[in-house]
Amino acid sequence: MEEPDLETLLERIIGVVVDLLPVSAASLILWDGDRKTFSVSASTLESQSPRYVLKTVRNTGGATRWIVDHQEPLVVADVDDDPFGASEMLATERLRSYLGVPLVFNQASVGVLYALDRARRSYPRVDVDFMTILARRAASAIGFTRLLETTRDLATIDDLTGVWNRREFLARGETELERAERSQRPVTAIVFDVDDFKSINDRHGHVTGDAVLRAVAQRCDTEVRPNDVLGRVGGEEFALLVPDVEPRVGLVIAERLRERIASTPIVVDQGTYDVTVTLGVARSVPNEPLTALLHRADLAMYDGKAAGRNRVVADPDASASTRGPAASDP
Ligand code: GH3
Ligand code: MG
Ligand code: MG
Repeated sequence: MEEPDLETLLERIIGVVVDLLPVSAASLILWDGDRKTFSVSASTLESQSPRYVLKTVRNTGGATRWIVDHQEPLVVADVDDDPFGASEMLATERLRSYLGVPLVFNQASVGVLYALDRARRSYPRVDVDFMTILARRAASAIGFTRLLETTRDLATIDDLTGVWNRREFLARGETELERAERSQRPVTAIVFDVDDFKSINDRHGHVTGDAVLRAVAQRCDTEVRPNDVLGRVGGEEFALLVPDVEPRVGLVIAERLRERIASTPIVVDQGTYDVTVTLGVARSVPNEPLTALLHRADLAMYDGKAAGRNRVVADPDASASTRGPAASDP
């Protein structure tokens, strides 16, 4: 039998709880141990949409957080005696008792599975055991899904800067170029390199250099649009692909990036540094491979380095796409 997706599986698990235990409701709350937040959930309660859970599950001080921290089941037979003070959600749903069991994967908490009832109930041992078995199934599904996501991230994201790594940038860039080719709209490539970066490393050390690199990438990342492709293509060299822009817009975007880096010093744990970048801009022409486009942007960038750095230079062939191929024919 094919494995259902995570959401479907979690829905089924809470379905099993209400089918096989004499309780009014069940819910499943996910815990992100890195971010320390509760997130997506499944619930049989009409009012408990995922967003509702996000808003009302107390991050600290509530029963859910206690279960996550202690990794032990919790029975509250009567909400009047709830050691955590009954939550707003319990009152809204007129729930009188609950049992929560931790979801644990590789010794880490990944959430809580709840059975909830409108009557007072003491939840005997057999209920706790049953819920624990379901919790184990849910936890391993959640844990493996997260492991897969992490593995995928490791293969595609540059771990220093958080932008696409070179390989993923090139793969996404190819897709972007193909799409542009089909719609007969060019793509603008912007290649940029941190100026005199070697001197930051030499004067302040590699760790500081790393932090500066991360900060530069993050600053650029906040400037780009969802359809843009930003990657780290070399040590202190980045590339950005922008689909569907008029020739001049590429230059405007590049200039905005330059300004964004140069205008405000980069602040990292180690100190505050004035950093600049030099950018080269090139526009795709039909049937041009991505590497050729990037090479033209690269050459423009090197012209900018030679001209004194902290500037934007457009590839001289940038207008070739509007001239058309016939111009060079004899
Ligand atoms: P230019 O303005 O011409 O670009 O000068 P530059 O000093 O930036 O260029 P150069 O190519 O001489 O030096 C780049 C330096 O970047 C050398 C290399 O050690 C450093 N570098 C490359 N990758 C990393 C990295 O991941 N972390 C750190 N800290 N340094 C890196
Ligand atoms: Mg450099
Ligand atoms: Mg370089």
